[in-house]
Order: sequence, then structure tokens, then C-alpha cells
Amino acid sequence: MSKKTVSEYIEGIKNGDRALLAQTITLIESNAAKHRKKAEAILKALHHLSGNSIRIGVSGVPGAGKSTFIETLGTYLCNNGYHVAVLAVDPSSTVSGGSILGDKTRMSELARNKRAFIRPSPSGGKLGGVHYKTRESILLCEAAGYDVIFVETVGVGQGETEVRELVDFFILLVLTGGGDELQQMKRGILELADLLCVHKADGNNKQKALLTRKEYELSLHLLHSNQDGWEPKAVSCSSLDNEGIEEIWDIICEFKTYMKERNLFYERRMKQSNAWLENLVREYLWHSFYENEEVRKYFYDIKKRTEHGSLTALEGAYELIHLYEKSTVKNERC
Ligand code: GDP
Repeated sequence: MSKKTVSEYIEGIKNGDRALLAQTITLIESNAAKHRKKAEAILKALHHLSGNSIRIGVSGVPGAGKSTFIETLGTYLCNNGYHVAVLAVDPSSTVSGGSILGDKTRMSELARNKRAFIRPSPSGGKLGGVHYKTRESILLCEAAGYDVIFVETVGVGQGETEVRELVDFFILLVLTGGGDELQQMKRGILELADLLCVHKADGNNKQKALLTRKEYELSLHLLHSNQDGWEPKAVSCSSLDNEGIEEIWDIICEFKTYMKERNLFYERRMKQSNAWLENLVREYLWHSFYENEEVRKYFYDIKKRTEHGSLTALEGAYELIHLYEKSTVKNERC
């Protein structure tokens, strides 16, 4: 870990230094106590510079074309004067120890663009499917001047809900497959989407993609027809042929205007920020509880007793909580 001072990090980010931005994200992702203080000071100093971006979540099963899509849309945006940051979230790395996202050469064209910043998927320290510092990484990217932030997640039913909580606009990439795929797709995931995009609508697949789009359009309408606010849209596009990409950006801009005019844009962000606060507290308490020495000492014994029925689960839980509370009070007095 680099040994820069807090003000060196701050100045570097303000100047849009990409290497320093990457180092600062590594610093805030660190769980070491000595890094936490530094990270907090940096975030505090830069907080007033954050918020001025559109945060876009992109999800879809492996192979749906997420990285190609972000590369094409991201390059289009860079060419139109925007600064684009990409944060990849990879739920697989905690499940299997390997990484779906990490072992490919990803977005090589966008990575070379001076207006883009790409952060490869972090591993470990997750809250659900999202690295629990992804929100802070978004704020840092905004402070560094990035005005479009993509958060990419693998659509395997783990990360989507968490990513939805981090972004303003959520894009779900799907492939053609007709009714079957639609039936299989979890309703919950479909409900998260602000835009559903039938991807790879090119060559022999184009007609089929248009039909699939119509089917999704109908189901989105049925799902959301009773809701106020933005009604999700369905489109088709091809990242390889660069078709439909501009239209997608127009929809995102339309969404932003629509939500801002109705005061829904910041209301959504405020709700997300409150939920995040609660998540962080929950995460902190969870770790503090299970890492507590007294809890660790008696945990398996109490678990065994509840398994054998000499203790109910409720009694077991209260016993552990009592041990935890007693030891934290004792530590405070020391
Ligand atoms: P990811 O796993 O969702 O990130 O998917 P990738 O972006 O790695 O793409 C998976 C495969 O789909 C690659 O072989 C891409 O070349 C291909 N692909 C991506 N976008 C398109 C597209 O618009 N049309 C076609 N025909 N293939 C695409």
C-alpha cells in the first residue's frame, strides 16, 4: 500500500490523477484500522465534490455482453465529452474464490481512453454481492470529475438488489430466447430494471431480438403499470454493430430530466443513502459480534446445546448476546 499523505491523496483526486484514484480506492477498501482513519479523512474532505454524476448499474448473465456494452456506450460518451468510470462488482469471487470478471481482458479500448477510469472487480469484504465500499468508490470517482459512473455486476441473482441500491438507473441486459427465458427470469430481477435491453440484436439474431423486445415491453408494462414515476422501457441494441447505443443514452437523459422535474432523483438517492447507513451499521455489528472473544469461546457449545434440544434457539441467542454485551461493557471500562 502506498504511503502518501492525506493531502496528497486529496490533491491527486481533485486533479483527476487516475493512478492516485486507484490507490485511494484500495486504501478505502482496506480493513486495517490504520488505513480507516486516513480513508475517512479523505472521504470527508472530498464529499462536497461528489454527487454530480449519473450512476448506472449494468447487469446480465455471464456472456450477455456487459463489458462489450459498457465499452461501446462508454466510448460513445467519452467521444461526446463525458468522463466515464467503471466499477465492476463480482459476486463470484466470494462464492467460489475465483472470479467471473477478473480473468478476462476487459474493455481494453475504453481502458486506453484518457477520459475513462476502470476499476477491476474487487474481491472479499462484500455486503451481499457488492463490495461494501463501492458506494465510497463512486463518491471518489465523482470527486475526481467522472460524470458517468457504471457499476457492473454479474447477473446471477446475488448482486442485483445491492447494485440497485447504489445507482440512479439500472440496465438489465438480456439475450433472445423468447417466452422460455422470460418465464425463467426471476420477476424480482425484472422489477429492478429501469431499462431492459435485448442485446446482440445483429445479423441473423436481429429479427428475433425485436420480437423478444416486444414481449419484454409487455411484461414490463404489466409489472409496473400501477407505479408512479418512471415506467421502465425495453429496447434492443448491438454493441458490436454500435446500433441502438445512442438511443439508450437518450433514454438515460430522459430519465434524469423526468426524475429531477418530479424531485424523485434526489429522493431516491436520499433513500439509498439511509439504507446504506443501516447496512453499514448492521455489517459492523455482525462482525463485532462474531469476532468477539467471549462469543467465539462459547458459540459452538451453545450451538451444540440448541441442536440437542437442551437449550431453545431463543435461549441460546440471548445467552450469546448477554456474553457479548458483558464483554463489550468490560472492555469499555478497561
Ligand atoms: P459479459 O460476460 O456479459 O461481460 O460479456 P462479454 O462482453 O464478455 O461478451 C460475451 C461475448 O458476447 C463475447 O464473445 C462478445 O464478443 C459477444 N458480444 C458482445 N456484444 C455483442 C453484440 O452486440 N453482438 C454480438 N453478436 N456479440 C456480442
